Amino acid sequence: MSNAILKILIVDDEPINCRLLEVMLGSEYETHIALSGPEALILAGQLRPDLILLDIIMPEMDGFEVFRRLRMIESLENTPVIFVTALEGETDEACGLRLGAADYITKPYSLEITQLRVKNHLTLKRQRDLLMNISLSDGLTGISNRRRFDELLELEWKRAVRSGTMLSLLMIDIDCFKQYNDTYGHVSGDECLKKVAQALCQTLKRPFDLMARYGGEEFGCILPETDAAGAVHVAEVLREKVESLKIPHDCSQVAPYVTVSVGVASMVPSLSMSFITLVEEADAALYKAKAGGRNMVNVKIFTEA
Ligand code: GH3
Ligand code: MG
Ligand code: MG
Repeated sequence: MSNAILKILIVDDEPINCRLLEVMLGSEYETHIALSGPEALILAGQLRPDLILLDIIMPEMDGFEVFRRLRMIESLENTPVIFVTALEGETDEACGLRLGAADYITKPYSLEITQLRVKNHLTLKRQRDLLMNISLSDGLTGISNRRRFDELLELEWKRAVRSGTMLSLLMIDIDCFKQYNDTYGHVSGDECLKKVAQALCQTLKRPFDLMARYGGEEFGCILPETDAAGAVHVAEVLREKVESLKIPHDCSQVAPYVTVSVGVASMVPSLSMSFITLVEEADAALYKAKAGGRNMVNVKIFTEA
């Protein structure tokens, strides 16, 4: 990650100012230019820059307004923004910083100061991203953790309430895993968990699907805009995928290999319910899959009474 070329978006209505900054920064970073606020918003959304240098005084839409709108875009809400301006006055500086700007550079630019400020803020951003990543991934398997799962489920739940679309949830649990540990030891158990996690993760195709380690040998999978039939299909593919790994499990009651049981729950969320309902329904379905013989998918279609 540290060796990837970092992207900087330069926003200024004066092409000459953009050019100056490009010359200062272009040899070390990938620079992009926007000559107006609206153009900046579009480009920022597409490029997802690591840092934005933003002029304050621009016709059409000023830098402060661009900044406010950037903050409303989910993928850009933490992108550091350095305001760049000819204005010298504490009011503007304070205004930008109060809005949450990372820093301030005044024109005419000093080459060294500009390069150093940019470098410092990119370093801070990288450290922040790294910490964020660690806090949202599971230490053993490297896939998303429970925290990420809970956050995303709540988000997708709200999104589905607004759009009136189906949301599906899978709870996946390794069969007879206690016996696996008892037979092969905890180190092998951990290796097995990693393999299963990778296989489950790689099987998901849509960008908004999420696979997470829910806890122990249990995984949770969020499938936005997916109905029960679709979710059962995904669940079946996941189940088959784990079976096809053919990880030997001599003491399983079900198969000579490691297998999983999957509980599926689907619903159109409503304001009167909480996303916890969906987890409970998927859990109940998982319980039935276990009781029904394991290595199988069970679905609970929820309709509000
Ligand atoms: P079932 O088929 O009903 O799911 O039975 P099970 O044995 O898989 O389920 P149970 O809940 O009784 O046991 C889960 C076991 O998973 C307990 C523990 O040995 C194992 N386990 C949980 N977390 C970890 C982990 O991080 N590493 C390892 N190696 N084992 C774990
Ligand atoms: Mg289990
Ligand atoms: Mg379990």
